[in-house]
Amino acid sequence: MPRRPKNTSRRSKALRSGRGQRAESFPTPQSSTALALEYNQLLSGLDAKVLVLNKFYMAVRVITARRAFILLTRETAEVIHTDDGSYANYDFSTWAELSELRKEFEPDDHDWVKTVRFDIAVPRIIRLVGYDKLPQQRVKLNRRNLFARDHNRCQYCGKHFHTSELSIDHVKPRTQNGPDTWENLVCACTSCNSRKGGRTPQQAHMKLIKEPIRPKRNPLISMRLNSERYASWKAFLDEAYWSVELK
Ligand SMILES: [Zn+2]
Repeated sequence: MPRRPKNTSRRSKALRSGRGQRAESFPTPQSSTALALEYNQLLSGLDAKVLVLNKFYMAVRVITARRAFILLTRETAEVIHTDDGSYANYDFSTWAELSELRKEFEPDDHDWVKTVRFDIAVPRIIRLVGYDKLPQQRVKLNRRNLFARDHNRCQYCGKHFHTSELSIDHVKPRTQNGPDTWENLVCACTSCNSRKGGRTPQQAHMKLIKEPIRPKRNPLISMRLNSERYASWKAFLDEAYWSVELK
C-alpha cells in the first residue's frame, strides 16, 4: 500500500489541503442530498471504471463511475486519491470542491462528469468505509470473465471480436464429456466454432493460440491495469490479496 501523503509542491498542497478553501465563485455543494440532485445531471464520464476497496483497503471489485457516485452520495464510500506513491481520503463534498482545483491544474489527468453548476473528477478508487468482507479468492467462471481472460480474441484464429460476435467453445466438446472449467472453455468466433463443430482441436486440425488457464486475478481488473488511466490501481492490487488462501 502506498504511504500517506507528504506535501511537496504548492499544487499538491492546494489540492490536498482542500478543507475550508473555496474559490469565491464556486457554488458550495450544501449537502449530500444536494449532490445527489446534481448527480442526476451528470452527463459524461460515467462509464469510466472505479476500483472499490473494502474498509481494509483491499480491492474487492470494479464498478462504473455511475455506481461509484451513488455510493459516494450515500456516504457509504469515500474517495481514495493517489499521487506520487501516496494516497489521501476525501469525502464526497471535499472531493467535489477539490475538483475545481483539479480542473484548473490537472484537467487531463481525470475523466470528468459535468453537472449544470460544476464539473466533478471521476475518482479512480473509492473505499467502502463500512464494508469488511474480504475479496473473493476464486475468480468466477462466467461469460464476462472468460471473454476478459481471452481479451475478446478468438482462441483459434487469434482475431479480436466484439462480444456479440464471440461464442464460448468447449475445447474438449460436451459430447465427449468436456467439462465446464477454465481449462476447457475458450472464446471462439462463430466461424471457428462452427468449423470445429463437436470435435477436439486435434480432431479438427485446429490449434489453440494459448493454453487456457484459471486466472489468478479478476481478468477485468488485469485488463485495465495495462492502461495508464488506471495506473493508480496497482498500489492496491497486491498479488497476495488475490492468491493467498484464507482459512
Ligand atoms: Zn476465429
